[in-house]
Amino acid sequence: MARGKPISFPPEAEELPSPVVDNHTHFPGQGDGAVELPDGVEVLPMDVQVGRAERAGVVGMIHSGCEYPGLEHAVELAREWRQIAAAIAIHPNEAPRHAGVTEVAPDGWEQDLADHHREVSLEDAIGRVAELAAANPEQVVAIGETGMDLFRTAAGGLEAQRRSFRAHIALAKELDLPLQIHNREAHAEVLDVLQRDGAPARTVFHCFSGDAEFAGVLNENGWYASFAGPVTFKSNQELRDAARALRPELVLVETDAPYLTPAPFRGRPNAPYVMTHTVRTVAQEMGMELTQACQVILANTRHVYGDWFTQA
Ligand SMILES: [Zn+2]
Repeated sequence: MARGKPISFPPEAEELPSPVVDNHTHFPGQGDGAVELPDGVEVLPMDVQVGRAERAGVVGMIHSGCEYPGLEHAVELAREWRQIAAAIAIHPNEAPRHAGVTEVAPDGWEQDLADHHREVSLEDAIGRVAELAAANPEQVVAIGETGMDLFRTAAGGLEAQRRSFRAHIALAKELDLPLQIHNREAHAEVLDVLQRDGAPARTVFHCFSGDAEFAGVLNENGWYASFAGPVTFKSNQELRDAARALRPELVLVETDAPYLTPAPFRGRPNAPYVMTHTVRTVAQEMGMELTQACQVILANTRHVYGDWFTQA
């Protein structure tokens, strides 16, 4: 981004030749505790988000509501928009806060501890996730994001984070829902929990951050990798190698918007319609023609999350 130029959303991109679904996104400005955009960037209204996505060939989007105050709104969004479904959970970096841990993160990140929703205990917060998921089977298509994050959680918070991860795994199994895993610099810890507890039948590594070797672990277990914008960054050859190594039937794509905008728009806010750039990169690594890759990715999406995005 040129100095002094205001940050804005990327332009609309050429439509994909065959439809795909954004497996994991966050719509900014939607409900309390919603993710925030950089200063000066205006929230796109939902009809603009959905319209742009459809024009790009992104026919469905899974909005992850992963902070306590945003759980209900995630379900409402999914009820309101045929193109949107919800994934709900208590985020791995929220779990220690609900458990009363106030230690500053290793990266110096400090949450606003005044937020009163963290007075809700971790057990009650996860209980609310369970209640909403069970009561809204048409809207809630996954439990997530949950997992481990050694980048943003200090040593004192790891016990609560692990406890939360395990509770979400149990919930996904109980409700027979797919699990979306957040794994930040925690490969060994995440694998340890999955191996001890047993992974849900459909397990997705959201914003996959492993290498080809880690992709091999997914291949062995039948776990999915959902690739986000970083797979397009020049420096991340390792991620492209992983996409190449993964069995094609385990490949998913997402934005994790408004973060992780793909090249060539890195640094600008992200949205589902911008996912086309990531899909093109992943298709190349899958060694497939773009249309075929989109079809495979869509079939995988259906297999994991069902068919809610198909127009009746
Ligand atoms: Zn996310």
